[in-house]
Amino acid sequence: MSLLVVGSVAFDGLQTPYGSTDRTLGGAATYFSLAASLLAPVRLVGVVGDDFGGSEEAVFARRKIDLRGLERAQGKSFFWAGKYSDDLRTRETLRTDLNVFATFDPKLPEAYRDSEFVFLGNIDPTLQRNVLNQMRRKPKLVALDTMNYWISRTPDELAKTLRLIDALLINDEEAVQLAGEHNLLRAVRRIFSMGPKAIVVKRGEYGAMLFQRDAILAVPAYPLENVHDPTGAGDSFAGGFMGYLARAKKTEHGSLRRAMVYGSVLGSFAVEKLGIERLCSLKAKEVESRARELVRMTNIRL
Ligand code: AMP
Repeated sequence: MSLLVVGSVAFDGLQTPYGSTDRTLGGAATYFSLAASLLAPVRLVGVVGDDFGGSEEAVFARRKIDLRGLERAQGKSFFWAGKYSDDLRTRETLRTDLNVFATFDPKLPEAYRDSEFVFLGNIDPTLQRNVLNQMRRKPKLVALDTMNYWISRTPDELAKTLRLIDALLINDEEAVQLAGEHNLLRAVRRIFSMGPKAIVVKRGEYGAMLFQRDAILAVPAYPLENVHDPTGAGDSFAGGFMGYLARAKKTEHGSLRRAMVYGSVLGSFAVEKLGIERLCSLKAKEVESRARELVRMTNIRL
């Protein structure tokens, strides 16, 4: 039950109608690992600068997240700042300072190379492929996240990487962009021909859908009265999804379906407070009880 994640560990500036911060620990791999570590042990690969100190390290240590793969480079950590609209539906990126992330070249510690579950967070697709090339044996499941930036700037490299993975996790707009098809079903069919055998399309407050060649599953977002900050929801979804699979040590259809519930649940907790705050205080018990509640909400017999 070994789960490896590669991705950004960052400082974020966040402006939302419910609160703001100039600088807080963030990054896709941070959200992912905080969510996944409630379900399975996580190994992290990333890079930070010399501004990453003991208090940041403690956030990971409390969840026993393995940081042997977190490289410490000279300079500043990746910094990203975003501002949300009053209804939280749109977000403007105010700043992206790559800093030490600009020359990131992921290196897997020897102890990570046998990981059975691998999540390739949203980074350069060539680097995602380099991570896979360092594995000693073929993982049980490799999942990948990407974004519009890589879809439009490095389509050939992304295509090569897509051929090597099992599951793709993207949002609906990115699925349409990647496939060049407006209809989601047609887009998904096109993406199947690029390699992935499972496609998870995240649709924010409208939930998420799992597509396999011969099956579709729709899972709603857990209904929340208070949504404070959508940052990291997708990464937390991925953490719940992969964390469940790593815990189950299975990748068949039924496990993928259950993993969708855990994805939706972890995504819902992530948005309840600013930044990583809610994920930090979250307990495994709360995850299980919300998962059961979500299943009850969707259990229909005809
Ligand atoms: P999401 O809300 O899922 O887009 O995730 C937001 C997180 O992704 C923030 O914590 C950022 O630090 C991080 N992030 C933003 N832009 C990038 C990027 N270009 N590459 C990697 N991570 C990013």
